[in-house]
Amino acid sequence: MSSTGDAHAAWIKLLSKLQDELKEVQEVKVKLSSEQDFRDAFFRLCDDYSATDPERSCGFFFRFHEQIVFFVKVLDEALFLKSPKTLSDVFWQHAYAAIEVAFNQDFQFQEFRNLYPQLNQNLPLFSSDLSQFPKNVKVQESLQIIFEAYIASYLELIKQLKTEDDDLDYEPINVQIQKARQIYADHEVEYRKRCKDAQDEIKSNALHNYPGGMDNNDGRFQHIRELGRGSYGTVDEVKEQTTGSVYARKSIPRKIPGQEEDMIAERVKNEVDIMSKLRHNHIASVNMLFKGENYWSMIMLPVADCDLKVFLDEKCSGAGYPKDAMRMLDPWFGCLISALAYAHEERIKHEDIKPSNILIKGKKIYLTDFGTAKDFSEFEQSTVSDYFETGTPVYWAPEPRAWGRPADVFALGCVFSEMLTVRQHRTLQEYRKFRINTGQDMRYAFRSNLRAVRRWLKALDGINDRNPVAQVIHEQTLNMLVEDSEQRLTAKRLKKNLRAEDDLFCSTCF
Ligand SMILES: [Zn+2]
Repeated sequence: MSSTGDAHAAWIKLLSKLQDELKEVQEVKVKLSSEQDFRDAFFRLCDDYSATDPERSCGFFFRFHEQIVFFVKVLDEALFLKSPKTLSDVFWQHAYAAIEVAFNQDFQFQEFRNLYPQLNQNLPLFSSDLSQFPKNVKVQESLQIIFEAYIASYLELIKQLKTEDDDLDYEPINVQIQKARQIYADHEVEYRKRCKDAQDEIKSNALHNYPGGMDNNDGRFQHIRELGRGSYGTVDEVKEQTTGSVYARKSIPRKIPGQEEDMIAERVKNEVDIMSKLRHNHIASVNMLFKGENYWSMIMLPVADCDLKVFLDEKCSGAGYPKDAMRMLDPWFGCLISALAYAHEERIKHEDIKPSNILIKGKKIYLTDFGTAKDFSEFEQSTVSDYFETGTPVYWAPEPRAWGRPADVFALGCVFSEMLTVRQHRTLQEYRKFRINTGQDMRYAFRSNLRAVRRWLKALDGINDRNPVAQVIHEQTLNMLVEDSEQRLTAKRLKKNLRAEDDLFCSTCF
């Protein structure tokens, strides 16, 4: 693919230019190409200068660079750039150089802390589009201009820090930041248009032409490892041979005993149609669909590390509630509600929200598997549900026809109650035991014993005024688990309520 080659070459050129510019203002002593390198170097630096509370400062740095960290990672991965010529390199070195100069000049870390949020805002809204078209050369052009402007803000910061004044002159830095913001604003429309063109291109190439002979044995996608197995088929990690990009491939058999082949095709296309309409930072994307001899193959992103069920059971409770894992939980409440509010606004329901349909990749969370979802702008009186089972009984809402938007809210409320349980250091087994209702068929279903669910949540350690974050999660989870579907809050409203605590969102969603 020549366009991929072009994009790659253009990035390499830009990266070496930016690295040269950095050399002019700062002798680059350390080679940093990853987050971990940065952390290690940062802590060493703090040590050398006896800086107070390095952990907190480092946390602050990351929090306000979430967007840019995500940006560079996605592009590095997509372009398959080899270290040291990666975006990560350029970014980490600039960031580190600025901090190093600041320490050399006796600046307190706090003094330029207030610049970070502004720097981060230079890349405010890319996440949802980025993962979709990372290799498209036309999309790349806008990204390169904006990335360059972002890095220029850092260079200006370094330049100002190096002048021997006692006080940092914020004016030129702010001017550069404003300039970068303006460049972003100027290019945003063009960038979005290019994304849309790229999306249409992908759709016309892949979704509707269904290239023949693209079976699982086809040479284009190389199997790397199996990721999961479900009633629908298997999911494996694959590598696209021409670009080296890595995807998740969901394979669904074209023929299943007892099911009409046409109906299976219909369901697959329905899922792909729905998922390609949804373009959100926290919703997995379907990038291609192929019809093979025996299987339908959906080519998707991200390739997850694990699902939320595994995360809560094994990475949190089962591992003694490690700090790193627990810290990741809080923003997921807001991010998941943002994803659901967005889908509902697009008039799409999920209908099968449960922890195993929620994926985790790095620190990010994704709602996935709209497989049983129906686009109710088209089927208000759905007949599809007569053919296919929907939902997962345990997370079902109490109302009889439990597949409206309020039922999605209820199911996510059940998930939130499990996340909150683990957040407060209790296990899901204890929670299940507590709410068991032996008189019911679905003994562990949340709806079977809502009173016990409420009692359990209230009794969790730390649900009190002294822990405002836990308090907000607790209150809004109860709002989601209201029995009467008409009284239940909408996802949009819940998103607003969760905003009471900014820790409950990633910087993109807030
Ligand atoms: Zn988010």
